[in-house]
Amino acid sequence: MSSPATRADELRELITRHSEAYFIHDEPVVPDADYDALVRELRELEGAHPELASEDSQRVGAPASTVFSPVRHGEVMLSLDNVFDVEELRAWSQRVVKGLASTSPLAFSVEPKIDGLALSITYFDGQLVQAATRGDGRVGEDVTDNVRTIANVPQVLRGARGTFEIRGEVFLAKADFETLNETQRARGAKVFANPRNAAAGSLRQKDPAVSASRPLSFLAYQLVDRDTTLSLTTHRATLDLLATWGFLVAPETLVVTGVDDMIGRSTWFEVHRHDLTYDIDGTVIKLDDLASRAALGSTSRAPRWAVARKFAPEERTTRLKSIEVSIGRTGRATPYAVLEPVLVAGSRVAMATLHNEDQVREKDVRPGDLVIVRKAGDVIPEVVGAVVVRGEERVAPWIFPTTCPDCGGELRRRDEQSDTYCVNPACPAQQMQKIVHFASRGALDIEGLGEQRVMQLLAEGLIGDVADLFTLDPEILARLEGFGELSANALVKAIDTARTATLSRILVGLGIRHVGPVAARELAQRFVTYEALAAAPLEDLEAVEGIGPVIAQSVYEYARDDEARDRMVKMKVAGVALVQPVVLATIEATLSGRAVVVTGAVEGYSRDEATAAVQARGGTSPGSVSTKTYCVVVGEAPGASKVTKARDAGVPMIAASGFEELLMTGTWSATLE
Ligand code: NAD
Repeated sequence: MSSPATRADELRELITRHSEAYFIHDEPVVPDADYDALVRELRELEGAHPELASEDSQRVGAPASTVFSPVRHGEVMLSLDNVFDVEELRAWSQRVVKGLASTSPLAFSVEPKIDGLALSITYFDGQLVQAATRGDGRVGEDVTDNVRTIANVPQVLRGARGTFEIRGEVFLAKADFETLNETQRARGAKVFANPRNAAAGSLRQKDPAVSASRPLSFLAYQLVDRDTTLSLTTHRATLDLLATWGFLVAPETLVVTGVDDMIGRSTWFEVHRHDLTYDIDGTVIKLDDLASRAALGSTSRAPRWAVARKFAPEERTTRLKSIEVSIGRTGRATPYAVLEPVLVAGSRVAMATLHNEDQVREKDVRPGDLVIVRKAGDVIPEVVGAVVVRGEERVAPWIFPTTCPDCGGELRRRDEQSDTYCVNPACPAQQMQKIVHFASRGALDIEGLGEQRVMQLLAEGLIGDVADLFTLDPEILARLEGFGELSANALVKAIDTARTATLSRILVGLGIRHVGPVAARELAQRFVTYEALAAAPLEDLEAVEGIGPVIAQSVYEYARDDEARDRMVKMKVAGVALVQPVVLATIEATLSGRAVVVTGAVEGYSRDEATAAVQARGGTSPGSVSTKTYCVVVGEAPGASKVTKARDAGVPMIAASGFEELLMTGTWSATLE
């Protein structure tokens, strides 16, 4: 353990290095969460050992670079204090309440904390005269020419007299970021790691023509009335004025009263962060009353009347232990990272995908490296890249194996593709994944048949193919390690239930190339039995609604493949129905031509059953809400974005308890608010 003084020095050096990389070169080497942790550690150390205190932990940004002319800010541009969870946010609000000795609930403005870079634009008598970055808070960089090229920055403020400074964030909307990177890739130019770096790098260009070619936007969040010509008393009123002047003001910003509503609105942003059109890394909470702000004042670093609540980080660094390859059911060999476990976006991550050979090469991650791991929303965790420390030794670049880790067969890369495949159809890993897929939720939904079990059954020689599942003997199973009479019977019973599964589920489970759940349903409904489907000429397959030539060809070939033929015969002999129950004509088409979106759990119906019930009545059940949606059925734990979209589009929402009524009558007696 190093002494507090040594550690403080170490931390200062690291913080300075990272600040320069982030603020001056627009190319951070570590995720924000790692940087924030260093700053926090230094502050805590200085708190416990006041003799170690320095200005470093109180610093704002980094000195302006020499590429641009310096601009001294008329009023310092401060940073914001951070809180990292609801408790800390509550504690902050209590300090504010106490500081103001307030007895009535306070009004707070709750805003998105856009991840871009701060900018101050000065207008004199309505004319844009100067724009500057924050720099170290006192002196920024003159980026006026570049800012003039940002399409949504007004050049003139109608009716404005005197000097106004408009502060806000320069950013790239998510879609614009994607477009920019596509253009960069096409030109063989540098691809940006995230919208923040791209925005900062695009604004801080020597040549304004380069900035002009980048799709930058500006969002205004503060008005500084330098000559005090206005008599506005609330932040909200200043935002409204900014909007009438033509600035983009965050439409999600809400002024709420009281601490609980403030916390609620801040959490709303965390839940919806992936639904917004721009990246946010938290929310900013500000007092709405301008006189109260003045009463509280600021420290040298940040105002006391505002705070940034940072969300759980979606990027963290950890050590890459090794790179392995896993074989999927189609034989695709996917490289993945085995990591020192780390908490990302609230969940423990020990493995992350590396997608394919080209991605590993592009990212140049090597065993032993410190790597950045990203997990956003429901997306599976991935390795973003390595944090390469100069002078640190690394092993040689990782080479994609030439043989399959499971069967030792050849791994071959398909021409024109980034993916590599194990070309041995008898590869046990492929067999295992095929059976796991057959038993998975989207297919036959056989409980108790995960990877481990399937591997065991394969190794015991009890199965070799999905069709063998239907011949498993509970007595033999019960004698296997890890099984008992109960679990053996339960598994056989679950498999037994699958015998009557609809043909469409079977088709999904077989994993026929290009056949997903939608195509499977269309085919099953049209042909009703597997025999009819297998005997169908190519033209008949192509004639099915929603089935294109690629799917038709794939199904046609599958039905004529010897192995597949054996499999289907075996299943038939084992009593698997292989039929699609025909929807009875007595069901009335109450929802004919109507799109009903079901979100969340509806009691008595699985997701597929709810969809089938709507379809049986002539309706459709798409996965997303649009203005054409007839209604949204809101079950337990609904998708937040669907509910918001329905509300925004004015689509009626009904409770899950009204689902049966909807099916029967095609309408409802009550809607949700
Ligand atoms: P900050 O980002 O925590 O907060 C202040 C900034 O928030 C403002 O300057 C403004 O640009 C921005 N902001 C966005 N929306 C806003 C709104 N509605 N109202 C007011 N401000 C809003 O602090 P900081 O001083 O700008 O810099 C620290 C940030 O930079 C942190 O996020 C930190 O993690 C990151 N950083 C990262 C590294 C790294 O190596 N990864 C290095 C240095 C800094």
